[in-house]
Amino acid sequence: MKEAMLYDKLKEGKVKCNLCNHRCLISPSKKGICAVRENRAGTLYSLVYGSAVSTNVDPIEKKPLFHFLPGSRSYSIATVGCNFKCLHCQNSEISQIPRDHDRIIGKNYGCKEIVEDALNCNCKSISYTYTEPTIFFEYAYDTAKLAHKEGIKNVFVTNGYMTSETLKTIGPYLDAANVDLKAFSDDFYKDICGAKLNFILDSIRLMKELGVWVEVTTLIIPRLNDREDELQKIAEFIKEVGEEIPWHVSAFYPTYKLLDYPRTPAKTLHTAREIGLNAGLRYVYCGNIPGDEGENTYCYNCKELLIERQGYLISKNRVKDDLCPACGVKIDGIDL
Ligand code: SF4
Repeated sequence: MKEAMLYDKLKEGKVKCNLCNHRCLISPSKKGICAVRENRAGTLYSLVYGSAVSTNVDPIEKKPLFHFLPGSRSYSIATVGCNFKCLHCQNSEISQIPRDHDRIIGKNYGCKEIVEDALNCNCKSISYTYTEPTIFFEYAYDTAKLAHKEGIKNVFVTNGYMTSETLKTIGPYLDAANVDLKAFSDDFYKDICGAKLNFILDSIRLMKELGVWVEVTTLIIPRLNDREDELQKIAEFIKEVGEEIPWHVSAFYPTYKLLDYPRTPAKTLHTAREIGLNAGLRYVYCGNIPGDEGENTYCYNCKELLIERQGYLISKNRVKDDLCPACGVKIDGIDL
């Protein structure tokens, strides 16, 4: 157990957690919504510090990040827990176990060890992923600081529900983030995730201000968030924050508690991609349909094919010194 960061001590032994925008008010002996932060006698503790439930070496493209150290490996870690309760969670067996089964599992794994293993595995970054990094913030924060000392970059794969205080705290150590923008309606966020849309939009804006490289992902679920006007609103929002932000539109498959909805047809993703490009976004990618031309990177200026992908693998990268070899325009991203 580790004393939490970013919380207030209140009267009668209560505490207020300021890590995510639920801002839970927690009485003694109780936990917050994420079920991995507990008030013990007026002090808030993280129950998952140093307790990794999942560790893997992944291609950075799996996060997905297509414009950040392409072709590199990312050392990926997670603890159990999440501050959302998405009905379609693809990692529910680890994200929801504290809430669904009142269990916290994981192996003892120190921050120093993570960084050493990342170095030994020739990883250029550490990704805090699979579950929501905000809820294991102290663990991620301490690891991220050590990683920077060793020249390793840090990546959050996140639902974007952290508070501005949290983002500003990790900001100096956070190099890139993929933020899930799951829909553009309050009803979707309330009914499907148990959250509110506006806070995610604020986080994306703030990440850009803090100089974090941001890519956005929307998992498109038939009948729930696939209306063209909603996709248009997402594209317009991203454009307003930055036309260089890559938008990944990816295919849903039935999972967890959302088993009555069909897989997303490829046609829907192609339509979403068209909407994004027509709205002025420079890079829009189709995900979860390997072999689709929407996985490739094209120059936004002259349309030259720049990076060819097959799923998470790069088969050809023609970008040189971050420039398009055909027209010479700068392609957005980090070390392309
Ligand atoms: S991190 Fe957990 S305890 Fe803290 S505000 Fe969010 S859900 Fe509540």
